[in-house]
Amino acid sequence: MTAVPVVIGMRPSTATDAPDPGVDERGLVDTHGRVHRDLRISLTDRCSLRCTYCMPEQGNEWLARTSILSTDEIVEIAEVAAAHGIRTFRLTGGEPLLRTDIVEVVGRIAAIEGDEGPVEVAMTTNGIGLAQKLPALIDAGLTRLNISIDTIDRRRFADLTRRDRLDDVFEGIAAAAASELRPLKLNAVAMRGVNDDELADLVDFAMSVGAQLRFIEQMPLDIGHTWDRDTMVTREEILERLGERWRLEPVPGRGGAPAEKWRIDGGPHEVGVIASVTAPFCGACDRLRLTADGQLRNCLFSTTEYDLVPVLRGETASAPGEGGRADAIAAMLRACVHGKLPGHAINDPSFLQPSRGMNAIGG
Ligand code: SAM
Repeated sequence: MTAVPVVIGMRPSTATDAPDPGVDERGLVDTHGRVHRDLRISLTDRCSLRCTYCMPEQGNEWLARTSILSTDEIVEIAEVAAAHGIRTFRLTGGEPLLRTDIVEVVGRIAAIEGDEGPVEVAMTTNGIGLAQKLPALIDAGLTRLNISIDTIDRRRFADLTRRDRLDDVFEGIAAAAASELRPLKLNAVAMRGVNDDELADLVDFAMSVGAQLRFIEQMPLDIGHTWDRDTMVTREEILERLGERWRLEPVPGRGGAPAEKWRIDGGPHEVGVIASVTAPFCGACDRLRLTADGQLRNCLFSTTEYDLVPVLRGETASAPGEGGRADAIAAMLRACVHGKLPGHAINDPSFLQPSRGMNAIGG
């Protein structure tokens, strides 16, 4: 069943309003005490792959090009977010490298001063086209990379992504491995009957290029609504499979990170598992999301969005840089944080999958 998103268009706060929700000297703090430091920005819902667990091969309804935020709009939002305590911006999508001005986006966000100095700019990518763009991205200020690779088998890759582009992904990973960006992380969604027999091989591959593999439990976020709790590969199963090849010791000090980590055979290599379904980590979540069409979200699974478009483009929108407009963006960020629930409730019988797929939310 598809949930209908509730789109909230907040009006800007004024001096006469009641106390602003989410105001705290630590920044964007929700009603459960979580301080938000990370904003995931989706730059586009389009992608160079068509992973079966994410989107259909054809007939997907893309966001209208006119609704996609401009670089000026993204930077304006990022500046206000940084002034309110956001320290890491992760660029994602869809596929962020499809954005033609990706180097400019990275450079302009990297130039923002946060409350603790320059902000960090990270990217999650499928790696296609990365090799060509990486030097310019690093020059522009990119500091961290996560590259997604669910299989190292060429035929499987073509079946899973509906594109025969594994060599392009390998090329991107090789370029990242040769760069100074560390830690380098590779993400793989573990799927039964697709790649669950090559989990250890994926870890071996990651270690061979000096990267850390992080397995992601498949989540109910695909456009086709094909997710099935009974067949998903769980954290426990992933650890069992890896345990057949290596001795795994838990790495303490996870903080707000989505991945739990294990040291492999005493180190130095580590492997991570992001177990959003069977071991949710919402209590430490410090993340907000901005969709490519200007909707703020406080959770991947939320059915509520906070619409920044009227603030940026509405009839009464003030000019960029004017106090009123920055205040309105800040008020929306605070409202979004204030509305954050304690957990994502995937495991609750009343859970409704958001109507947006992962590609339009920003993974
Ligand atoms: N195109 C980029 C990439 O491939 O990394 C960024 C966007 S993609 C949506 C981000 C991550 O979300 C990828 O690692 C992808 O495998 C993961 N992902 C997509 N759908 C998922 C799902 N239903 N459950 C778990 N992870 C998913």
